[in-house]
Amino acid sequence: MVFSCVFCEIEPCYVSYLCDKCRALKHIKLTYKDRFNEVIENVLVRTPDKQEYKIKDEIKKDIEKKEYALRSSGKDKK
Ligand SMILES: [Zn+2]
Repeated sequence: MVFSCVFCEIEPCYVSYLCDKCRALKHIKLTYKDRFNEVIENVLVRTPDKQEYKIKDEIKKDIEKKEYALRSSGKDKK
């Protein structure tokens, strides 16, 4: 008997609850935890023209965090 994926409710599943695409998403969710939800809610739940702006804004936040981490670790070495 064939069931559909419990997440997307489209792809057929024979032995598992999740299809391959949704299982891959689950791994990303487990890796990034709340950050995954934040990005989905802040970026996808918008009109396409506003998505472009939000994508850049979210990427900017990540870059700033990494730059800050790099600056902090650089200070410790001196
Ligand atoms: Zn699925």
